[in-house]
Amino acid sequence: MTVGVLERLRNELGDRVDTDPAALEEARADKSGQRSPGAPLAVVHASDVADVQATLRIASATATPVVTRGAGTGLAGGANAGPGEIALSVRGMTRILDVRPDDLLAVVEPGIVNADLNAVLAERGLWWAPDPASRAISTVGGNIATGAGGLLCAKYGVVRDAVLGVDIVLADGRLLSLGHRSVKGVTGLDLTSLVIGSEGTLGVIVRATLKLRRLVPGAPCTVAATFPDVRTAAAASSAVTAAGLQPAIMELMDATSLEAVHRLLALPMPTPGAAQLTIQTDGPAADVEADAIAAVLAANGGTVSLTHDPVEGERLLAVRRSFHPAMERLGTTLIEDVAVPRSGLAEMFDEIARIERDHGVEIPTVAHAGDGNLHPNFVFDAPADGEVPAKIWEAADDLFRAALRLGGTLTGEHGVGLLKRRWLAEELGDDQWRLQREITRVFDPQGILNPGKVFAP
Ligand SMILES: Cc1cc2nc3c(=O)[nH]c(=O)nc-3n(C[C@H](O)[C@H](O)[C@H](O)COP(=O)(O)OP(=O)(O)OC[C@H]3O[C@@H](n4cnc5c(N)ncnc54)[C@H](O)[C@@H]3O)c2cc1C
Repeated sequence: MTVGVLERLRNELGDRVDTDPAALEEARADKSGQRSPGAPLAVVHASDVADVQATLRIASATATPVVTRGAGTGLAGGANAGPGEIALSVRGMTRILDVRPDDLLAVVEPGIVNADLNAVLAERGLWWAPDPASRAISTVGGNIATGAGGLLCAKYGVVRDAVLGVDIVLADGRLLSLGHRSVKGVTGLDLTSLVIGSEGTLGVIVRATLKLRRLVPGAPCTVAATFPDVRTAAAASSAVTAAGLQPAIMELMDATSLEAVHRLLALPMPTPGAAQLTIQTDGPAADVEADAIAAVLAANGGTVSLTHDPVEGERLLAVRRSFHPAMERLGTTLIEDVAVPRSGLAEMFDEIARIERDHGVEIPTVAHAGDGNLHPNFVFDAPADGEVPAKIWEAADDLFRAALRLGGTLTGEHGVGLLKRRWLAEELGDDQWRLQREITRVFDPQGILNPGKVFAP
C-alpha cells in the first residue's frame, strides 16, 4: 500500500512530493523536544489549495494519515509526523490575497509568517494583533490551528478574537468556506471557532480571513518594577488589573528566569530572589496609564522605573524576550503553559514553589500576567533516549492538577498536541471528551487527520 500512496502522490503532485531524508527527518519534530518514532512516508510541499485537495483525496482513498505542518515551531508535538504518515506542509502557501483597509480585514494563505504579514500590513497602517513570541518564525495558519496567544493578548485578544473566517479542506478533499467577511455574522453554528485551536484534527486551513486593527498611534511607555519575591510581583500584577488599568503588555519573570536572562545578556545580577514585572502601555493615554500603573506597583512593594523612550522601553522588554534563549542555556527544558484566573496567579506561583520542593526540580517561570498564563519550564539534563524523564512528568502532572484546582486550564496557548493528551479528559470530563472526539469524526470519518494528537488513542 505504501508504494501505492507514494506513486499516486507523485503522479498528481510531481516534485512537490519530497522523500529526501533530511526533509523527512525535519518533519518528525517541532520545537517541543518530542520526535516521532520514525520518518514519515513523504513531505508534500503544497503550493496551492488544489495541492492540498489532491493530497487529501489520495490520503482518504488509501486511509493514510496526514499531519499538517506550518513552520514546525509548535510546543506540543502537534506537527510531528511519523511512520506511515504524510507530512503536508503548507509553509509555501504565503500569498496575501486581499487587504481591505476600510473593512479592516485581510485574506491570506496559511503559510505566511506572522511577522512577514505584519510588515506588509504596517505599510498600510494596519496590524494583525496576535503576537506569539515566535511571530518571526511561526505561520498564520499554525497560529490559527493552535489558537496562539502572546504578549499583547490581555488588551488586544488572542487569535480567536482576530479571525473572521477560514477555508478548510476536509479529509476527503472537499473545500469549505467558514465564517464571514462582515463584523457581525451568526448564520448557523460557529465552525470557524471550532477550527481555531483544532491542531490539524478537523481539516487543513488553506485560507484565512483575518480581523485587522489600525496601528496604535504614538510611542508606548514602559514600566519595569522589581519585587522581593515572585508572590509579591504576582499580587501586584493582579492589583493593576483590579484597579481597572489595561496595560498592553504585562510580563512577569520569577527569580530563576530573571537570573538566567541577566547571565545570558551579561547584565549585572539581580538581587537574589527578586522577581520582575515589565509593563507597557500604549495609545493616546499611554503616559497617564503608565503613571497610574507605576503608582499601583510602588504601593504593592515594587521598586519602579518608568520610561517614555521607546528605545529604552524595548531594552527593558528585551530581558523578557530573551527568556527562551536563556532557558536553552540551562539544559533541556519541558516548556509548559498553564493558565489560571488572573486573581489566582500568586497562588499558582506558591504551587510552583511547592512542586519544586516536593519533586526536587527547578522550574523557572515567566507569565503573561495580564491574562494569568504561566510558562513554567522544567529544566533537566538531556537524557540519552531523548525522552522526558518520568520524574519531570510527575512534577508536570502535579502542576497541571494544581492549575485545574485553581479553576485554570492545562494549556493557555500552546495546545494539547501529544504532550498533554493524557490529561485532556481530566479537564474536560469523560462526556465532553467523547463529544469532542465524535465531532472530529464528523469532519474526518476515517480519523486520518493528525491521528493520536489531542485525543489519546
Ligand atoms: C521560541 C518560541 C516562542 C513561542 N512563543 C509562543 C507564544 O508566545 N505564544 C504561543 O501561542 N505560542 C508560542 N510558541 C509556539 C508556536 O510558535 C505556536 O504554537 C505557533 O502558533 C505554531 O505555528 P507553526 O506555524 O510553527 O505551526 P506548526 O508547529 O507547524 O503546527 C502546530 C499545529 O498546528 C497544526 N497546523 C499548522 N498549520 C495548519 C494548517 N494550515 N491547517 C491545519 N492545521 C495546521 C499542526 O498540525 C500542529 O498541530 C513559541 C514557540 C517557540 C519556538
